[in-house]
Amino acid sequence: MEEKLIVYDQYIYDLLEQTKNPSREDIKRVLDKAARNEDLSHRDIAILLQVEDIVDIKDIFTKAGEIKRKIYGNRIVIFAPLYLSSHCINDCVYCGYKQGNEIPRRKLTKEEIQEEVIYLEKMGHKRLALEAGEDPKNCDIDYIVDAIKAVYETYNENGSIRRVNVNIASTTVDNYKKLKDAGIGTYILFQETYHKPTYEAMHLKGPKKSYDYHISAFNRAMEAGIDDVGAGVLFGLYDYKFEVLALMLHNEYLERNYGVGFHTISVPRIKAAKGMNLDQFPNLVSDDEFKKIVAILRLAVPFTGLILSTRESHEMRKEAIEYGISQISAGSCTGVGGYKESEEKKDESQFEVTDNRKPLEVLKELLEEGHIPSYCTACYRMGRTGDRFMSLAKSGQIQNVCHPNALMTLMEYALDYGDEEFRKVVEEMINKETANIKREETRMKLIDNVDRIKQGQRDLYF
Ligand code: SAM
Repeated sequence: MEEKLIVYDQYIYDLLEQTKNPSREDIKRVLDKAARNEDLSHRDIAILLQVEDIVDIKDIFTKAGEIKRKIYGNRIVIFAPLYLSSHCINDCVYCGYKQGNEIPRRKLTKEEIQEEVIYLEKMGHKRLALEAGEDPKNCDIDYIVDAIKAVYETYNENGSIRRVNVNIASTTVDNYKKLKDAGIGTYILFQETYHKPTYEAMHLKGPKKSYDYHISAFNRAMEAGIDDVGAGVLFGLYDYKFEVLALMLHNEYLERNYGVGFHTISVPRIKAAKGMNLDQFPNLVSDDEFKKIVAILRLAVPFTGLILSTRESHEMRKEAIEYGISQISAGSCTGVGGYKESEEKKDESQFEVTDNRKPLEVLKELLEEGHIPSYCTACYRMGRTGDRFMSLAKSGQIQNVCHPNALMTLMEYALDYGDEEFRKVVEEMINKETANIKREETRMKLIDNVDRIKQGQRDLYF
């Protein structure tokens, strides 16, 4: 029988009380355990969350970086959000789209969606996260399903969107089935906060007001057959230590009841938005605490993708990638129609974006830092989702496909969207990375595929 309770508040408070002021031996024991690929207990994670000493924090960063490189290699997956609709009947204190805000409300027509997709394709994007406010009248599930179809059928020269993730409000099993049938990649939903009293103080009206309906969304998604779900907490609403442990409890709850936990975890930090003031939020997370959160999540759930958006600055993103982030957005707009209109400068955003660089600039820097930007979407299209993906990831076999796939999508990007200097850097990186592939069969196939891409073929993958 499905368990009812997902998060146990008192259990978390007790853990945090018991682990205050951890000793250096305790911290070392936990980090050694992580290095041996052993699962960390809740108590181990609480110990790391309680670390305050700068020397110990640096040890956490170092270990998280090592584990990240061991599991993910040097790949960073790139995506962009696409805002479909700003209609919303909820009243979330922190959100620019809240019902009480007087902003022009709109949703994109099919033609407008396709126009936005072409802008995104011209930037080289292959993966999108669709975003919408909650409004069953103005933005119902059929609208979202049609939007997914419109995205998948929009091509521009060599550009195509190959994976559509969706970040929309908690809904019914029947609606999740419709999303599944439309070819959704990951279903993303942020819990915002796992602390019920804070949740209730932050969500004043509308369907999102119900904590229980919101926190049980992934149960319904999984019942509908969606096995890739992406969680998140809006850091800054409540104590981050509580939230990290609650995320772990939620993840394990899904593993126990549905056989697979989160495919990804997003780590949004609250940003200024219309109709709110950051002073209203006493639990804002500092930059140092934020880096610690990223590193601890990397150690606690080494196989779960960690997503960072352009809410964070260029500098923060650069650092967080070293400690654990595996996916980033690039060139994002957080307003409906924002890609077209950012050029016309009339963007109505959900919140402020800090890293405003174009994808090509982001990719150039990633390459300089030794990362491989990846537009790969192969796993989802080969049916490597849910527990199938996780078992491949945990056995280490996923590297054999992700690494060459990343290189092939990078070659495509360089040819279609890069400048001459960029193409040269990519060519050098691909040669170097290919030479290091031990399996002869994979190496030869990759060399052949890269040649074919140069001759004009696209969308080759393992
Ligand atoms: N309407 C859907 C829902 O309620 O889950 C989709 C959510 S919205 C398009 C995506 C996410 O943006 C929210 O889940 C929230 O965490 C985040 N968000 C809202 N306001 C924000 C702010 N001021 N700063 C940073 N992130 C914010």
